[in-house]
Amino acid sequence: MKEITIIGAGIGGLTAAIALQKQGYEVEIFEQAAAFKKAGSGINLAINAMQIYQRLGVYEDILAHSSYTHSMSVRDKSFDYLVKGDLTGFEKKYGAKTVAIHRASLHEILLNHLKDTPIHLDKKLQKLEQINGTVKLHFEDGTEHISPIVIGADGIHSAVRTSIFDATVLRDGNQICWRGICKAPELATAYKHELNEIWGKGNRFGFVYITDEDIYWYALKNKDRLKGRDENLLDVFSDYPAVVKAIISSTGKEDILYNEIWDLHPIHQWHKGNVCLLGDAAHATTPNLGQGAVQAIESAYVLSHCLEQEDSIEQAFNRFQEMRKTKADHITNTSWRLGKMAQSESTIVCGLRNFMTRMTPASVANKMNEFIYRLDY
Ligand SMILES: Cc1cc2nc3c(=O)[nH]c(=O)nc-3n(C[C@H](O)[C@H](O)[C@H](O)COP(=O)(O)OP(=O)(O)OC[C@H]3O[C@@H](n4cnc5c(N)ncnc54)[C@H](O)[C@@H]3O)c2cc1C
Repeated sequence: MKEITIIGAGIGGLTAAIALQKQGYEVEIFEQAAAFKKAGSGINLAINAMQIYQRLGVYEDILAHSSYTHSMSVRDKSFDYLVKGDLTGFEKKYGAKTVAIHRASLHEILLNHLKDTPIHLDKKLQKLEQINGTVKLHFEDGTEHISPIVIGADGIHSAVRTSIFDATVLRDGNQICWRGICKAPELATAYKHELNEIWGKGNRFGFVYITDEDIYWYALKNKDRLKGRDENLLDVFSDYPAVVKAIISSTGKEDILYNEIWDLHPIHQWHKGNVCLLGDAAHATTPNLGQGAVQAIESAYVLSHCLEQEDSIEQAFNRFQEMRKTKADHITNTSWRLGKMAQSESTIVCGLRNFMTRMTPASVANKMNEFIYRLDY
């Protein structure tokens, strides 16, 4: 049997493991965390990810543990629409739904599809070396492992990437993000199958149901106006609609996650020798299009097919990069620009932004959605 080693048991690594096993690979995963934690946030899985999960036989499990989303809209602080994004046309065209799900539920579902796969926890990769056509992995606990092929699915700060490439650049989005999950307050029940994002001045707030009762929300603010991670969100969003304040008030402070927003400036090459990067390690993007994990899922599927179809590892990795890089880079750069526009602090620019967004014909947004949701393979 063909052996392969994956570094990182995130959404990208686990999806790659499922896809590779379907191609007959014997997969082994090494993960730095000592245990899988119940990450307190949700995630939106767009139609392109759900098409992949259909092909991998995971779709029904995800549908059963998530909340269906039929629209993704942007609104202003009066809660009037700037963009009303109906997803039902794409849903019909591609035969797959958009859902939002608790990250821990997604993780559990993916792990359930990998019951016989060795997943070694508490194994933090320090570096790797390529010697005579094999890859030697060095872990921080002093142990080593040798593998014919290694997939680096170890996230934006990838140790695999820094082992094979010198100069890759992380970009600071200069934004901070809080995320939380709460029981849906009464005021939110009218928005059960919608994702709504509200744009203000230098800040944004989005929310979506992830189960029949639970809401996942995210809030962003520009870093240069930052007081600290413990800033009172009710103050930051005091001029936002009542539903936003009800959601914040329904969330325990200890349950709120805090992150800075970064991406990876698109890199020229995703692979070297018998080592290939995947997911955030290769193409980390800001979350403005909700496509980071979704792109990791697409890459996981395509990489497994290229390895199966091409005659050599080098050809497979070249083909994988050829098939995926243009789309992933375009999403990274578009998401970066969108984030800057959405977080503008100037009253004039925000007014103009809202006017232009409202006036933009639906066909423009549809064209972008089509580019994102379509799988050319
Ligand atoms: C605020 C926010 C909101 C987001 N919302 C969405 C969304 O709605 N939809 C969407 O598609 N994407 C979203 N994303 C992006 C998404 O979270 C990432 O793109 C996705 O998690 C990437 O998956 P991955 O498996 O490539 O990397 P990761 O999730 O980072 O997983 C990497 C894994 O590798 C492990 N690891 C790291 N270093 C090592 C090492 N040295 N040795 C061993 N193991 C290691 C880590 O512990 C981890 O388990 C969001 C991101 C943020 C910050």
